[in-house]
Amino acid sequence: MIKSRRGVDNDVLAACKKVIKAPKGVVLLHRPDIVPESRQLVDDCLETGWVSSAGRYVGEFESELASYCGAFGSVAVVNGTAALQVGLVVAGVHPGDEVLCPSLTFVATPNAIRHAGAFPHFVEVEESTFGIDSNRLRSYLLAIGEQRNGQLANRATGRRISAVCPMHCLGHPTRIDALMQVAEEFGLTVVEDAAESLGSFIGDRHTGLFGKVGCISFNGNKIITTGGGGALISNDRDLLERAKHLTTTARVGSGFEFVHDQVGWNFRMPNINAALGLGQLRNLDSILLRKRMLADRYRAAFADVNGVTFADQPAGCRSNWWLNAILLAPELAFCRDDMLAKLNQEGIQSRPLWRPMHQLPMYAESPRDDLAITESLASRTINIPSSPDLIDLT
Ligand SMILES: *Cc1c(COP(=O)(O)O)cnc(C)c1O
Repeated sequence: MIKSRRGVDNDVLAACKKVIKAPKGVVLLHRPDIVPESRQLVDDCLETGWVSSAGRYVGEFESELASYCGAFGSVAVVNGTAALQVGLVVAGVHPGDEVLCPSLTFVATPNAIRHAGAFPHFVEVEESTFGIDSNRLRSYLLAIGEQRNGQLANRATGRRISAVCPMHCLGHPTRIDALMQVAEEFGLTVVEDAAESLGSFIGDRHTGLFGKVGCISFNGNKIITTGGGGALISNDRDLLERAKHLTTTARVGSGFEFVHDQVGWNFRMPNINAALGLGQLRNLDSILLRKRMLADRYRAAFADVNGVTFADQPAGCRSNWWLNAILLAPELAFCRDDMLAKLNQEGIQSRPLWRPMHQLPMYAESPRDDLAITESLASRTINIPSSPDLIDLT
């Protein structure tokens, strides 16, 4: 039996306070953990003047990131949105195509699809992972798709549907095996939005390495930050070479002359940003350990709060626990905003999930499946403070 609304407000606040013991000022949703090694490497950039598009740290960051993830290689770029845009292009998405993606995502996912000249097509998620529901996707594609010259097309718009872009929501791995199977059945290329999931594994494979390419973000609120930044990870050498070439102005030759053979992007990550990220990457295990301990404490604290579920990692996965979230029972959705106000008033920064993409003006007319579960999850999820420094290991 669910208590009155006031009771639930107080229970949620009390559970948060059990975990966040002695808050100093406002407890932010996610604060970067700037380790001493990052300071040293950034200092080195400042002292030597290698702050911009040349210098050793971009290459070191790329190779250490690839080796952490178990990828053949990686390409570091200016932000996660750019990584996704480039990832879609090098994976073979063409202007005018449609790309399937969740509506329950950050706006970068459909924006990157549009920047690549394609159109987002929103599909439904499942409550247990907040990721694409593969069974639902299969029956949806059977209903709205048709084969044309051996390729899947949207019968209503006539456009080719070339790819699907699953997103590992809040760091929790999506059910990728089932998704890969549907992708294969329909001939879809998979580009993973792994922006939130650095350090998240399915079995022993890192998220982002199931499809053709995975795209990570190093924005200030992500698990590690380069200030702003992103990366593509992949096991496809040719794809990575094309991504590197296209994101570094498509320059050819190594002499004095400026010669370029394509319309390239200037998307390379600057050296000073790579230096900042490299220090954190080398300490990622400590960050992940504290994130997991924090999640364990939240799970215990919310265990007997009626009407509230802690968003847990799916079975068989290792989550990075990027952002902890609680899910209100449907009959309590109406008090989400008051609960957010109360938590924030008490100095516990908390936020709703993103407004679903199909409810934003620029994507209101995009093709989509019925999105009742997306809308329901968006209306009753609350993200709570998740910084690694909430756990003191000393
Ligand atoms: C953070 C994020 C991105 C990329 O964001 P940038 O701010 O451009 O680095 C993409 N998709 C999702 C789901 C994200 O959370």
